[in-house]
Amino acid sequence: MGILEVKNVGKRFGGLKALSDVNLSVAENSVHAIIGPNGAGKSTLLNCLVGKLIPDTGSVMFDGQSVLGRKPYQINQMGISRVFQTPEIFGDLTVMENMMIPCFAKRDGAFELNPIRAITAQKDIIAHAESVLADMNLLEKRDMHSASMSRGDKRRLEIAMCLAQEPRLLLLDEPTAGMARADTNNTIELLKEIRDKRNITIVIIEHDMHVVFSLAERITVLAQGTPLVEDVPAKIKGHPKVREAYLGE
Ligand code: ADP
Ligand code: MG
Repeated sequence: MGILEVKNVGKRFGGLKALSDVNLSVAENSVHAIIGPNGAGKSTLLNCLVGKLIPDTGSVMFDGQSVLGRKPYQINQMGISRVFQTPEIFGDLTVMENMMIPCFAKRDGAFELNPIRAITAQKDIIAHAESVLADMNLLEKRDMHSASMSRGDKRRLEIAMCLAQEPRLLLLDEPTAGMARADTNNTIELLKEIRDKRNITIVIIEHDMHVVFSLAERITVLAQGTPLVEDVPAKIKGHPKVREAYLGE
């Protein structure tokens, strides 16, 4: 049994079958990539895992509990955190202020009424935020206005905001989209460190094969809403079905 078990998930948008019969089993503390051509249903699948969309059929179990029928914030409280395809940070706030949002949401001590305990709790929260920022190479930018950061830094801040919640499952939708090569490589290294350092399972959707093959332990290839193949990276490379799926891209 994986920490995430998706069984026979189907999702329609009117006449369009975005997902059909999707089965996916993700082992705890592994990195599992989902690849596939544009429109394959990758983001739709992720949306079904976090409660943004409700599948028409099938089941989604996280750590033995169904996520279906729960609100996104409840699924988040179960330990699933997600980075979107387009950055969702607050540009008016500094890096540290952005980090405070998930940290306050996570730590009840932030709402302490006793002033001494409130200050102590806040210090703990700041220390926690700083350690996560350090993991994402953003500590020196803590007081920067986040709107003025590079695209790569914005994406890494988003990942940091997710990690601050200490999720057990981190979902990344094209985390390196729009990044320059050097920035992409930097992000791969940071994600590798996180994978090795934390007890975390990562599901990553990614277009960039260099990223996929650097990080993933297993890969599922999605095409037209259905998994075509699932295997270790070495077996996915050059797989005839995979080439077929990408033809005409
Ligand atoms: P991917 O992330 O693999 O590129 P998506 O999951 O975004 O693919 O989309 C899968 C298919 O579902 C596409 O044909 C897309 O146009 C369609 N689709 C996605 N979201 C919606 C929606 N909210 N309403 C209607 N169609 C949608
Ligand atoms: Mg997508």
